[in-house]
Formats: sequence, structure tokens, C-alpha cells
Amino acid sequence: MPTPAPYDAIILGAGASGLFCAQRAAGRGLRVAVIDHADKPARKVRISGGGMGNFTNLHASSANYLCANPHFVKSALARLSPWDVIDFLTRLGVTYEEREHGQLFTLTGAGHLAGILVDRCRKLGAYLLTGRKIESVDGPGPFRVVAGGESLEAAALVLALGGPSWPQAGATDLGFRLARRFGLALVNPRPGLVPMTLGPADRERFAPLAGNALPVTIECGPVRFTDPLLFTHRGISGPAVLQISSYWREGEPVTIDFLPQGRVADLMEGNRSSSMLLRTLLGRALPKRLVQTLLPEALASAEVRRLDRRQVEEAAGLVHGLTITPSGTEGYAKAEVTVGGVDTANISSKTFACANVPGLHVIGETLDVTGHLGGFNLHWAFASAAACADALPGGNG
Ligand SMILES: Cc1cc2nc3c(=O)[nH]c(=O)nc-3n(C[C@H](O)[C@H](O)[C@H](O)COP(=O)(O)OP(=O)(O)OC[C@H]3O[C@@H](n4cnc5c(N)ncnc54)[C@H](O)[C@@H]3O)c2cc1C
Repeated sequence: MPTPAPYDAIILGAGASGLFCAQRAAGRGLRVAVIDHADKPARKVRISGGGMGNFTNLHASSANYLCANPHFVKSALARLSPWDVIDFLTRLGVTYEEREHGQLFTLTGAGHLAGILVDRCRKLGAYLLTGRKIESVDGPGPFRVVAGGESLEAAALVLALGGPSWPQAGATDLGFRLARRFGLALVNPRPGLVPMTLGPADRERFAPLAGNALPVTIECGPVRFTDPLLFTHRGISGPAVLQISSYWREGEPVTIDFLPQGRVADLMEGNRSSSMLLRTLLGRALPKRLVQTLLPEALASAEVRRLDRRQVEEAAGLVHGLTITPSGTEGYAKAEVTVGGVDTANISSKTFACANVPGLHVIGETLDVTGHLGGFNLHWAFASAAACADALPGGNG
């Protein structure tokens, strides 16, 4: 049964952070209402991790997050560890597996994960209004929200509206628009964890490789990731590219090492007197098509024993340090996250309350906090939600 009005808190957005906040606040005895325009709550959670929900990461630390203030995430992460998330979810029936880099995926599916959050909210008495267009938001003192013809009031308002990435799952920029209306500054939002596109010349050069994937180290400025790269028809994708895309700015080059686990020079050294063609030797370690694309024909078809030092260095340079300037990204439509968002400068890292709007809180991806690929974004949604829920006034303490 829904909790009778008035509410202690209205939460806008029934996604990962909104639902986690609602169940935790309701568990403290707060009267909570959660509003979402989608008929089915938590649609991004349902599609997360390829449908298996990479819900946290054992190595979660501030180093895994982009934020104008790199210290901002520390307090919330310290208060809700990956083990707290595991404990919470396994008690409710989620089973999981650990994959590489400390990534934890459900075995029961992301839909089950979303369902558990919804059930928990309902069981603890949070009032869930789904399929409701948010018509107006006023306040503070108190906050008044009209949604789907129903008017609700509360002393606290939590913006848990995510970011505009992946609009096909119901994402909008309402969180940013409301934040601006309340006088909060935004750190310029842009698509993150997104495939990159190449300009016409590079696209033509690499298009025959579409569908090929291989481990690489990719660098943009001082940041580097070693993970698989996938060539696509429009450019490059795969975990390495998604990771670097969150750091990349329009016009910047990226450098790719296609053989991060070895050295071209060492391969040659072991075959110094071989009459094998260079393309054959490199083709043992790299996709043959890639060797053909990277190396000029004269170099690729030279016998290894005839190569001079300059040629060895040239081949090594091409394999270990291809520099290309992506023409752009696939945009919000293919971006798993939104980088940037509500500036954390006026948000408490302990309570997620805004300094200059009494009762207003902002959590999850609406904030200028973006995690790396690997479960860090859902973890942030949960951690920021938990800290906010524990700080909301009202309830049993
Ligand atoms: C394809 C995909 C896969 C992903 N996989 C993973 C993964 O495996 N692990 C991981 O950690 N992260 C993953 N992410 C990122 C993760 O899903 C998000 O970072 C996380 O859900 C953010 O939580 P949130 O509560 O801030 O926002 P959301 O979960 O997006 O919730 C926001 C809610 O607000 C509602 N809303 C938006 N606009 C309006 C409006 N105008 N009116 C009313 N309601 C509105 C939405 O319907 C939604 O329910 C993935 C993202 C995508 C797109």
C-alpha cells in the first residue's frame, strides 16, 4: 500500500539510484514517493551488462571515476563498498560471478536485479508512480511535484533522473534542466563510454577490418587503457575505445599500440636470419588484415633477414604507435553514460544535498561523476543513493 501523503521525500527517477535511495529511505521509516515517466522502472538497469547487470566492481575506488573534483566520490564509496552491495543483493536472491578486472555480473539477469529493487521499494512502503509525465516541479518550502495529474508535496526533493545517454531506454536531460532551474551549474555534458567514428580517409583505410577485435593499449593524453578494441564499419569500438572515449575531446588524437603484450623488436630478434616475409612474422601475432593495413606493401613483403634497423623501427612504430584523430563519437544514442552533469562544487559529498537550495539533493549519473566501464556506474548510483537516503531528514533515525 502506498504511504499516505505528505511525503518526507519525493524522488524523481525510478532508475538505479532512485530505487536504491527509495528503498533505503523507506527502510528508515521515511515516507517516500518515486516518480518516473517510464511504465517499467529501471530500464537501463534491465539492459546493463548485456542483460546480465555488471552491478559493481571489487576494485571500485576514486581512481575509477571522472569528476571535476576527484575527491568528491570518496566519502560515498567509503560508506558503501562493493561488499555491501553484494551483501544487499545476495540476501535478496541475486547470485553472481566474478569476471576479469573484478567485474561482478549477476547470474540471475539484470531484469531480476531491477525487479528486486522495485519489489523492495514496494515492500517497504515507498509509493511508486510509473508511467507519469512530470508536469511541474516547484519549491523549496515545500517541494511540490505534479505528475500525471497527481500533486505531491515533500520537504526534500531528490533528482535521480540520470543523464540523456541511451534515449531509447527513456533517458532525457530533465535532471539537467531542473538542476539549472534551481540555479545549479553544469559541467558541460557529453557522451561517454561510446564508440568513436573515423573521418573518410581513416574509415576507408580501416573499414575492411570491421568485425576484427584484438587487445590494444589506447592512449589519450596522460590516460591509457589496455583492453580489446573492435573495428566497426564507422570507426572503432570495444572496451578500450569506450573507456578512452570518456576522456577524449573533439579534435584530440588517440594513439593505439596493437601489440601491447609483446614487442615487434623482440619478434624480429628471435627470427633475425629468417627468410620469412615480415607480414608472415607479424601475422603470427596480429590479424593478417591489420598487418596489411598498417604496413606499406614494400615493408610488409620484405624478408625479415634483409630488414635494416630503420625498417625495424618503422614497423615497430606502426604497430605500437598508430596515431589517429577520431572524427567524433556515435553520440548519446550509443553512449552508455553521460560525462559531466551537475557540478559537484555546491553538493555535499556526504549527504548529496545542494548548499544553496534547502532540501534539494542530486544523486547518480545526473551528477558530474562518471565511472569507468566495469560496474562502476551502477556502483556509483547505489553509493550516492545510500549516502543521500541515510541523510534525508525524517523517519526513525
Ligand atoms: C546499454 C547500457 C549498459 C550499461 N551497462 C552497465 C553495467 O553493466 N554496469 C554499470 O555499472 N553501468 C552500466 N550502465 C550505466 C548505468 O546503467 C547507469 O550509469 C545507471 O543506471 C545510472 O543510474 P541513475 O539512477 O543515475 O540513472 P538511470 O538508471 O538512468 O535512471 C534515471 C531514471 O529517470 C527516468 N527519467 C528520465 N527522464 C525522465 C523524465 N523526463 N521524466 C520522468 N522520469 C525520467 C528514467 O526513466 C530512469 O528510470 C549501462 C548503461 C547503458 C545505457
